[in-house]
Amino acid sequence: MGAAPECGRRRAGGRPRAPGTDGDGAVSGAIDIKGWCPGARRPMLSGDGLIVRVRPHGGALTVAALHALAEAASRFGNGQIDLTRRANLQIRGVSPETLAPLWELMTSLALLDDSAEAEAIRNIAVNPLAGLDPAEVIDMRPVAAALELQLAADKALWALPAKFGFALDGGGRLPLTELAADVRLAARSVDERRRIAVGLAGADAITWLGLVAVSDAAAVAANVARWVLQHSPTRRAAALPPQAIAALSTELGLDRSNETSTPSVAMSRPRRGAISLTDETCGVGLGAPFGRIDSAALERLAALLAASDVSEVRLSPWRTLYAAAGRDVAGRLAADAAELGLIVDDADPLLRIDACTGAGGCPATRLATRQHARVLAADIARTQFPGTLHVSGCAKGCARSAAADVVLVGDADRYRVVRKGTPKSAPCGALDPADIGITSQGLFQARESVHV
Ligand code: SF4
Repeated sequence: MGAAPECGRRRAGGRPRAPGTDGDGAVSGAIDIKGWCPGARRPMLSGDGLIVRVRPHGGALTVAALHALAEAASRFGNGQIDLTRRANLQIRGVSPETLAPLWELMTSLALLDDSAEAEAIRNIAVNPLAGLDPAEVIDMRPVAAALELQLAADKALWALPAKFGFALDGGGRLPLTELAADVRLAARSVDERRRIAVGLAGADAITWLGLVAVSDAAAVAANVARWVLQHSPTRRAAALPPQAIAALSTELGLDRSNETSTPSVAMSRPRRGAISLTDETCGVGLGAPFGRIDSAALERLAALLAASDVSEVRLSPWRTLYAAAGRDVAGRLAADAAELGLIVDDADPLLRIDACTGAGGCPATRLATRQHARVLAADIARTQFPGTLHVSGCAKGCARSAAADVVLVGDADRYRVVRKGTPKSAPCGALDPADIGITSQGLFQARESVHV
């Protein structure tokens, strides 16, 4: 699935403003700074209130913290929680009055940064099974912790754009090869030694700069970020001129004696349900439909995890939580989580559907996009449609930026139908929401024009 925009636009001064949003994140009017992502210190106003983003350190939360955040989402927000494509968690519907007590709680959980600026650049993704997966080459969590310290200590780095990201890929069963990132540290096994390849996002492909010792990787990643700040016109790695990349390579003096471009491990499946790790343990992947879970379900999930002797959960860029559980309880845990509405099967058609928050969460539409998407998921299963579906409340297309095989675009009380395009593409038909579940199977049968 294509990456959905998760970031909005920032008003000068970066302060939350009074209601008047235009969607699932972006605040309308008097806004001129692109590239703002919501944070905890700097929440973003949406149709259902403030969005407060929680960035777990190393992508991990204790089950106790998960339970506390689920409770907080109903006490201080509207009970709706997002799992984001940056492996974060967002509490929705927070009000200006409840923000301070939510911050207090986050402070008690060591989840609130000292400043909005330091928080904004702490975009470090690590493999969700790091340290648990015997197939990984390197446990990247210590590198991530060292990089966090570098980013917090050097205020010059706070000028990095909020979308600037680091991917720390230790390999194994759940590699981060599909995750876009400005700076990539990828584990390699070279002559039986563990090294880290340093990569830079390019316009079309990753530029690998060379190999570094594990102990030096965080400092090198911070140096690469400094170089991007100084030499890229957009402060993003992909805009670095070729001569600046060549000079960076020389400046860093990395080991280029071995091939660094070939990943040491390939992407593997499954990603959800029970994933065998050792003779005794499994990782259990629990996906959230449309990246959304409500506080009651999350509280029950935390209780299930605790009852299964799980003490920690990991977040992932594919909006799926992971837990390591004993083989004897992993299957039961997955089954119980499925009853809570979580996705535990990679074949679930919900994984091929993107749907924006829709009516109730966004004033730009009257259409219940996610309810409609759930009904359409049954049509997809019945017709064995192998493609992707995007249900968008309006042409803005917040839930997905890439093209989808079928797109429904809200237009007043109806949907326009697009095939192989985005919400902004020319429609080939229309769909009355009253017909969803009745005649909508036709959407998933190959034809050029749809009037259902
Ligand atoms: S795409 Fe959906 S969430 Fe975004 S502005 Fe339109 S209706 Fe709102």
